[in-house]
Order: sequence, then structure tokens, then C-alpha cells
Amino acid sequence: MQGAQSQIESLSLFGPGLLSGGAGIPNTALARSGSSPGRIDPAFLNTPGLLKARDFVLPELVKYAENGDLSIGGCLDQVQLEQVAHLADVEEQGRREFIDLSFAEQQLQRRRYRDSLKRKAKKGQYLEELEEWQGGSSVAEGNFRAWWAEREDKRRTSLLRKGNRLANCGVTGRRLDCSEHPEEHRFYGSFACGVRYCRTCGARIFSELFGKYMGLWPIVKELVVRPGFRSGSVTATLDFTAVNIGRMPTPQEIRDFNQDVRACVRLALKRQGISSQKYGFLWCDEFGGRKSDSEQYNTNLHAHGVYVGPFVPHEVLLEIWMKLRATKDGARGVYIKQQKIDHQPVDACERESRRFARALGHALKYTGKHVSRSDGERLADLEAAFHGVRRVHTMGLFYHADLSCSCQCEFCDHTCDKSNGHQSGHRCKRHRSENRCPMCPGHLMHPRESGYAPLIDLRREHRIDLEKARREVGRERVFAGPRGDPQ
Ligand SMILES: [Zn+2]
Ligand SMILES: [Zn+2]
Ligand SMILES: [Zn+2]
Ligand SMILES: [Zn+2]
Repeated sequence: MQGAQSQIESLSLFGPGLLSGGAGIPNTALARSGSSPGRIDPAFLNTPGLLKARDFVLPELVKYAENGDLSIGGCLDQVQLEQVAHLADVEEQGRREFIDLSFAEQQLQRRRYRDSLKRKAKKGQYLEELEEWQGGSSVAEGNFRAWWAEREDKRRTSLLRKGNRLANCGVTGRRLDCSEHPEEHRFYGSFACGVRYCRTCGARIFSELFGKYMGLWPIVKELVVRPGFRSGSVTATLDFTAVNIGRMPTPQEIRDFNQDVRACVRLALKRQGISSQKYGFLWCDEFGGRKSDSEQYNTNLHAHGVYVGPFVPHEVLLEIWMKLRATKDGARGVYIKQQKIDHQPVDACERESRRFARALGHALKYTGKHVSRSDGERLADLEAAFHGVRRVHTMGLFYHADLSCSCQCEFCDHTCDKSNGHQSGHRCKRHRSENRCPMCPGHLMHPRESGYAPLIDLRREHRIDLEKARREVGRERVFAGPRGDPQ
């Protein structure tokens, strides 16, 4: 868990409002950017407000002892404990040797190596290694193998690291003090692991995904709402299923499945003469839930998608899908249905936006379904199957769509950092995370001892849960009437 890697991970995974630019911004920056710069006590400017490298190291709650025994600390309950233990088990499954990889996989790894060198070369690094690779010398192959071995090592331990983050979720946290009342307004922020199948973080992750992809609405609107015309485009759900192979597929099998979904849609649209500028498709992978007739879980992989574009006949998709999957685990089916909505609003814009939201919910909702209904082992299996696999896939106009808001931050000249599609509350990266004390206009600061600590200890210091305090203050504002500031 030591080293730069784990720091970066903790940085990006710590919940919003706690680290990213919020309480972690330098005091000088606070003084400049805060809307009440005069309120900062000058004495506070001398205290260390920035986190140090060691503050990012998560406690090692999951580890193997010398004798090989696994010890797990933290964890909120039995399900989480099971989930962490099972993740550690999966990670135990041996090392892969490069020569054992399939030819296609080897080539894929070579391409990744080349791409990573190119990225580094842009920053002026590894120029010689890139030249070496392009020259195709034997040294180049040696460099590549060394690169691969290092990545493989990381891949192997990454599930254990994930398990450790999970074990820390809601168990570990950080101190935060108010700049104006450091003795009284004392808080702690809980660590949020950000693991897809974490029962605490899962729901938040998916609602964020939904918000992000609703940012596609301006593109959808162009396709389906044409004033004065009957639009030639439909908003439909488009699902693909594969045959149940009786075990969890590997990440590679999931990648292959997604490649086939992509190929199928591309071929079908080509046959219909629909260009990539005329449609958008987004999908998400999922497994079935618990079988109705037994205690077992389903292992059938499927894709739930939302398609917006000209009508595509079901037969065309089905025929291509069957052909593509025939030599693999076979095909099961394709389903395309126009998305229906109840109580259709008369206004076309409102109607179609609601329709898109329903269809998008269909594509994304299944992802959160298992989180609440599965046991720890199942959650770990799902996590392992999707480990390193992209979850949301896009094609056509949805591919590389710019989902960012172009409005200006309400507090400074920078652009809003959120996804587009919202009318107010524009915030740049720095102002996005709230670094205000929930009880007064003061800012939140990191005290001297800001490393991760068990929440139990932080509560013993009579610190208050920051999120809870914010919710309570928010609730009081709501009851205080329309003058209450919703932020
Ligand atoms: Zn979590
Ligand atoms: Zn700003
Ligand atoms: Zn905005
Ligand atoms: Zn305060």
C-alpha cells in the first residue's frame, strides 16, 4: 500500500468535498478564492493546511501474514467481510506468464505498451525507448516484457488493494477543522472506497453515472425533436444476451462480448445505410440476478442499451448477432423496443427528454440492482469479473460526446466542472467541492494530524460526521422556508 500509486488512488477515490481541491487547497489560494477572504484568521495561515504524502496512505486492513494467513480488519458488517475475503481469494489465483497469453492478447498488450510510450513521449519522456520500439530491436522486446511484468504485478495485487479500500470504507476517515472555530466546529470525513459493488458507494456511483449521461440530452434532442417535422428517429431500448456458460465469465470474455455488441450494431446500421452521425448508442453490461428456482445466482452476461436513431428492424440485428456469436458461446437474443412513457407530456421536448431518461435508466439501473441484493461472495465475483473492464460503452454520436458544462463557475472565471444539462450551481474544479463549515461561514482546514484514522477514534475526539452535519443543516434550511440556500 506504500508509494505513489496508492496515494493517487486514495486521492481520486476520496469522496468529493473532502480532498479534491476542497479542504486540501492551499491557504493562500483559500484567501484569494473564497468569497469571504477577510474572514480567515491570519494565525491560521501558518498552520499546515495541505495534506502530506503520508496522509494519503490508507491503513492496511487486509494483508497476508508471513505464514500466508489472511487477516482482515475494518469492515462494516459480515457481508462486507465476506466480500473482502473473497476478493483477496480471487487475487491469489496465480500469475500469468506472457507466453501463455493468446496471440490476440499478446498483440493487445504490445499496442498498449506502444500507446503508453507515445503518451510519455509527448511529455518528453522515454523517447529512446519509443525509438527502440519503433526500430523493433531485441532490446525493445526486453523493455516491453519488463513493462508487462510490472503491470501484471499491479494487476494481481490490485484486487487485494481494492479489498483494502473496501474494508476501509465507512470505517476510516480524516479530521477537518473549521478555520473560524477550530476548537468547536470539528468534523471528520469518511473514506469512500468508490468500489463498484460496494453497498455504500454503489448507489452514489450509479446516480453520478446517470447524471453524467443525461448530459447526452442535447445530442438526443437534435435527433428526435424537430419542430414542425415528424422526427425520423426513435428512442429505444436495445439489449443483447449471451448464453449462460454456467460460470462467471472472465474480464477478457466480457471484453469480447462488448466487441461483438459493437460489431453487431455497426453492421446492422451499415446495412440500413445509417451513418455514425445519425444515431447514438450507449450500453452497460450486467449479469442476471438470483435464479428464481434456486439459491444460485445467474451467470448469464447481457448488455442493456439505449439506442437513439432511425428505426432498425429487429430481424436485421438478430441475424447479425446470431452469426457473430455462433462460434463462441452461441447467441441468445437481441431485443429492441421503443421506449414507452406514461402520461405523455404534450411538449415534444419534455416528452422526448423523459423518454430518454427512462431508457437511460433502463441501461444503467441494472448495474445497481445487485449491490443491494447480493451476498458478499457474489459481490466479490461481480467485482472481479468486471475488474479492469469499462462499464459504460458508447457508439455513434454518443462516442466521445462532450459531456461537460460550458457555463462559467459562479465564483470565478473558470468553466464549470460538472456534466452539462443543469441550469444553475455551476462550479469549477476548485469550487466544486464544498470546503465550507456547515455551521458557519468558515472554511474547512486540515489540522496537523490529517492522516487516515479509525472513525471510532475520531468520534472519541467528539468530532462530528461532516456529511451528516451538512444534511442536517440542509434540512433545517429547507424547513426554514424559501429563503434557505439550497447549497
Ligand atoms: Zn465504499
Ligand atoms: Zn470557480
Ligand atoms: Zn455547469
Ligand atoms: Zn465553523
